Amino acid sequence: MNQADSGIITALLQGEGYVQAEQELDAGIVLLNTCAVRENAVERVEHFLQRLQGRKKREKGLIVGVAGCIPQYRKEEMFSLYPAIDFLAGPDTYRTIPSLVEQVRSGGKLASLEFNSAETYEGVEPVRQGATSAFVPVMRGCNNRCAYCVVPFTRGRERSQPVRSVIVEVQKLVASGYREITLLGQNVNSYCDADEGYDFAALLDAVSREAPLARIRFTTSHPKDISEALVQTIASRPNICNALHLPVQSGSSRMLDRMNRGHTIEEYREKIALIRSVIPDVALSTDIIAGFCGEQEEDHQASLELLADIRFDSAYMFFYSTRPGTLAAKTLEDDVPEPVKKRRLQEIIDLQNRISGELFQEAIGTVVEVLAESESRRSSEQLMGRTAGNRAVVFDRENYKPGDLLNVSITGATSATLTGRPEHIYFLS
Ligand code: SF4
Repeated sequence: MNQADSGIITALLQGEGYVQAEQELDAGIVLLNTCAVRENAVERVEHFLQRLQGRKKREKGLIVGVAGCIPQYRKEEMFSLYPAIDFLAGPDTYRTIPSLVEQVRSGGKLASLEFNSAETYEGVEPVRQGATSAFVPVMRGCNNRCAYCVVPFTRGRERSQPVRSVIVEVQKLVASGYREITLLGQNVNSYCDADEGYDFAALLDAVSREAPLARIRFTTSHPKDISEALVQTIASRPNICNALHLPVQSGSSRMLDRMNRGHTIEEYREKIALIRSVIPDVALSTDIIAGFCGEQEEDHQASLELLADIRFDSAYMFFYSTRPGTLAAKTLEDDVPEPVKKRRLQEIIDLQNRISGELFQEAIGTVVEVLAESESRRSSEQLMGRTAGNRAVVFDRENYKPGDLLNVSITGATSATLTGRPEHIYFLS
C-alpha cells in the first residue's frame, strides 16, 4: 500500500512540475512515505531523519517532509523529536503536499493531518515502478479494531473507490501493456460500492474480465470477509491467480479473542477448508505474531499446530511489540518476556521454513507458468519471475524479457526460491 501511495504522491508532485531525483543527494525535497505497523519500520525512519539532520544544516533550502502513517500517529511531536522535518502529511492529505512544499519555502513548519473519510485519490493516476506489474488501490482504511494494530488510527474508516473509476484505471493499464494487476486495500475483501451494488467478488470478476490477458491478484483479505462467492469467483476466472494471503495472527481462539480479530480459529480453519475444496491448488500465505499479550505456551503450541496442519506456502512472522495508542497498549499487559517471544518466533520460523522447503521441493520436476519480472539479483544472465501462486522462480534469461509469460521446468529449490529452465516445445517429425 505504501508503494502505491508513493506513486500517488509522485503523481501529485509531477503534476506541479517537480521531477523525481535519480538519487537522494540530488533531491531538493526529500519526502519519506512511512509505515507505523511495526516498531522496526518506525526505527528505520527515525535513523533516516537523524541522518538527514546533518545534511539539512549544510544545505540551506533543503525541504524534508514525512508522509503516511507515522506522522498521522505521532503528530506534531515529530517536529521536536526530529528538527530536520519541515512538514507532515497524513494518508488522507497527500493532495496538500505540493502546497505544503510551497508554503514551507517561506519558513515555518506545517502539519496536514486531517482525516478525510471520502478520500480515495480517485482521478490520480499513480506513477508506477516498472511496466509489468501494477498496484490498484481499491479501498482504504479499516473498520476493524484488532488490538495490536495502529492502522484504524492512522488510515481511518473504510472507503472504496467507485467501481467505474477502478475499471477506467484497469483499462489504462491494459492499454499500456501491464501483465499483472494487484488490487489493494487494508481489508480488500470488504470492498463495497453500494451505489452500483458491487462487493469485492463482483469487482474482482469485473476486473478479471476487463483485463483477460493480465494476471489478477489482491491483498490483504480478512478471514471474516471471505465469502463463498469470492472463492467461486477466484476458481471460475482463469486469470485470477489461485493465491490467497489470509492473515491468521495466532492459532489459538483465546488469543484471537484477546486480539479482537472477530473470528475463532475453528472459523478460520473452516474458511481454509472452503477455499481448498473449491480451489485445490490454491497457494496460501499468512501473517503470524508470536508472544502477544497473555500468550501461554499452549497458545504458542496451537500456532505451531496450525502451521503444521495448513502448510502455508509462506508466512510473514513477527514477535509482538506494543504500538502506542492501540487497544492492546491501553488495556493489555505486554507480559511475555522478550527472550520467550524471540524463542517462540524462532520456533515458528523454523517450522514454516521447513514446510516451505518441503512444498518447494515437491515442485521439482513440475512445469510452472511464470511471469518474468526482472533481472535476477545474482546474475544478469538470469531472470526472476513468479508463479500464479506467487513463488519466486529464477531461470536462464535466454531471449526472454520482463513481462514475458513462459513455462519453466523446475530443477531446484530452496525454502524461498525455485530454480529452473525455460521449457521448449520440440516438434518431432
Ligand atoms: S484488519 Fe486488523 S490488522 Fe488488518 S488493518 Fe484492520 S485493524 Fe489492522
